[in-house]
This record gives sequence, structure tokens and C-alpha cells, in this order.
Amino acid sequence: MAANDTISIAVLPGDGIGPEVTAPALDVLHAVAGRHGFSVDAREHGAGAGHYRDHGSALPEETIRAVESADATLLAAMGLPDVRYADGTEIVPQIDLREIFGLYGGVRPIRAWLPEAVPLKDPRGADIDFVLVRESTEGLFVDRGKRNGDADHATDTMRVTRAVSEKLFHFSFQLARQRRSHLTLIDKANVLGSMAFFREVFDEVAAEYPDVTTSRLYVDAAAMLMVQRPWDFDVMVTENMFGDILSDLAAGLVGGLGLAPSGDIGDKVAIFQPSHGTAPDIMGKGIANPLATILSVSLMLDWLGRRRDDPRLLAGAADIEQAVRKALAAGDATTVDLGGKVRTADVAKAVIARLGNP
Ligand code: NAD
Repeated sequence: MAANDTISIAVLPGDGIGPEVTAPALDVLHAVAGRHGFSVDAREHGAGAGHYRDHGSALPEETIRAVESADATLLAAMGLPDVRYADGTEIVPQIDLREIFGLYGGVRPIRAWLPEAVPLKDPRGADIDFVLVRESTEGLFVDRGKRNGDADHATDTMRVTRAVSEKLFHFSFQLARQRRSHLTLIDKANVLGSMAFFREVFDEVAAEYPDVTTSRLYVDAAAMLMVQRPWDFDVMVTENMFGDILSDLAAGLVGGLGLAPSGDIGDKVAIFQPSHGTAPDIMGKGIANPLATILSVSLMLDWLGRRRDDPRLLAGAADIEQAVRKALAAGDATTVDLGGKVRTADVAKAVIARLGNP
């Protein structure tokens, strides 16, 4: 943190409901900063499908430099199904940013924030509380944006590098150490050579963390076990495409995308965002659930707090989590996607009202 106790945040509201969920998340951030003795310099920057349509660029250089120089970035959601590049693919600057800054650690915490929204119940009463770490810069996304093939076929490549995998696994083991010290590798090492290599690197790194227990699962079995006994997982780590699919499955286990925050973390830069998209079907109606974005602010403060060893930021992160849990329990934050009627702006008020009440 700067000597003046200010954290600088680059804010990328993006498209669709992005700006609608960004505003309440920033209200919560400013409120929590006031309570915990730090201040926030939050500046908005353009990027996304709307920016591409209006200005011809989805991710301006100015925005890239702002992300690079900020202490952290808050991104809402980007992309609109009817705004596409000439090859038919969508505008996805949020994925470009992961590659530009090497944000290999895609962290998706999954928790039972609202027990009534959890469709599965553990007979022993345990809560779902795990973190999925999705490698976010290579894997099956490596040929993204290219069309390899001809009129009769198309091919994508699964690329796994030692350098990125080692960083990913060290990151995941260290995260497991902060939690219940169990890490599950999810791969397809029985069929794909790239995944056998992924597992070999995992095993090498695992030898450096004898205090963390490990499991190895094939992705198909992992999908089944996540439904049969999700409460048994602690931290799981997987390849980009497997993580893309399993993180939505995971969000569905605890009430949907409206309760699923995320962080894309690299060595120097980190971007925090809800796991959901731009929800064009509900944009402008004032009913979007901002909790995934508000919880992403909590993740951001936790990451910054650990990095800076600043207890004020860590306390702010925990305060947001408590306030969200209490607002949900009281029925004051149950938006339409959670089966309630609370509107976007009122969720922020309900969370802010409960800050500082442990
Ligand atoms: P989506 O996540 O936008 O929506 C899926 C469903 O969930 C919709 O019914 C939507 O109304 C609902 N939903 C999503 N977020 C919600 C919220 N906060 N509150 C209440 N309901 C919510 O996924 P999609 O429809 O597949 O994609 C729409 C657009 O978003 C596409 O252009 C896609 O490329 C983009 N997208 C962006 C990101 C990102 O920026 N990280 C992620 C996924 C999709």
C-alpha cells in the first residue's frame, strides 16, 4: 500500500449487467475502507464488446497500462452475443488480460453462502467449502482465436508447459496450506499425453509439500464426485478448459453464478471478477445479483492484504464476507436468481448496513 494508505484499483465495468453490479460493489468497497482505515483510488477504464463496437478496440492500450500499474483490478463482465469479430468469435478482453499478464491462477472459491440455495445436503451436516484453481493461460485455450484446419476439419491444441504448471501447483499447494491442507489434481492423464505430463509435474511439486495431502482424479470422475460429495473437497487444481466447465458446475452447487466470485492471479498482477457473464437477458432491469462482484472485492482485499501484510485489508475482506452472510440469512439480499425479490441497489445497502457487526 502507498504511504498514504490508499489502494489503487483499476475498474473495468464492461458490458451488459457489468456496470450494474460494479456500482454496488464499489459502494461496499468504499464503505469497508472507511471502517478499516484505508482509502481507495478507484478509476474506471473502457474495455469490452461495447467499447469495440463504439471505438473499434475491445481492450485499449490505456486500459492495459492501467491494469498493470494498479494495485489490483476489479472487472465485472465482458462480451455481448451480437457483437463479434469477423471470424464469428466473441469479444473476450477478460481472457486477453489473463494471457497478457500471465494470470495462471484462476481462483474460484465455492461456499454455501445461502444454505437454502444449496440443492445437495451432506447427511453429516458438512458445508460445501472448496476452492477450484483453474489454470487460465494455456491448456485447451492455447489456440483461442485461431481457426486451424480446412473445409473438412478443425483442430485445437492442448498445450501444457512446465513453467506455468510449476507456478500453478506451487500456488495451489500454498493455498491449500492456508486452508485444510488437502489438494486434488484433476486431469485426464489416462488418455492425453499433455495431461500425463501435467500429472508428472504435479507429483514433482507435491514432493516439496509433505504437509499437504493430495488426491488425483480424472476429470470425468471428478465431475461425478463434485455432485455426490462436494463437501469433501478442499482445494482442487485443473487445466483451463476442465476448470471452465467445472467452475460453472461448482457454482451450481451453491446457488448459481450470482454467488460465485473469482480472482485471476499472476506473479505481479491480479484481476478480480464475478464468475458470471454479462447476462444480456436481464440487463437494465435492476435485478442483477451483485454479490459475486461484492465477494470478489473481498477476495481482492484478502489478496492485497496478504501481499502487503496489512491487517486492515484482511479485516476488510472478512468483514465483507460476514456482512454478506448476514444479509443473506436475513433475507435482505435474496435477488431474483436466488428465489427472492431484492433489487440490485438494495443488496448493497443491506451488506453495508451489516459491516462492522461481527
Ligand atoms: P451469463 O453468465 O451472462 O448468464 C447465464 C444466466 O445466468 C442468464 O440467465 C443470466 O441472466 C444469469 N445471470 C448471470 N449473472 C447473473 C447475476 N449476477 N444475477 C442474476 N442472474 C445472473 O452467461 P451467458 O448468457 O452464457 O453469456 C452472456 C454473455 O456474457 C456472452 O457474451 C458471454 O461471452 C459473456 N461472458 C462473459 C464472461 C466474463 O466476462 N467473465 C463470462 C461468461 C460469459
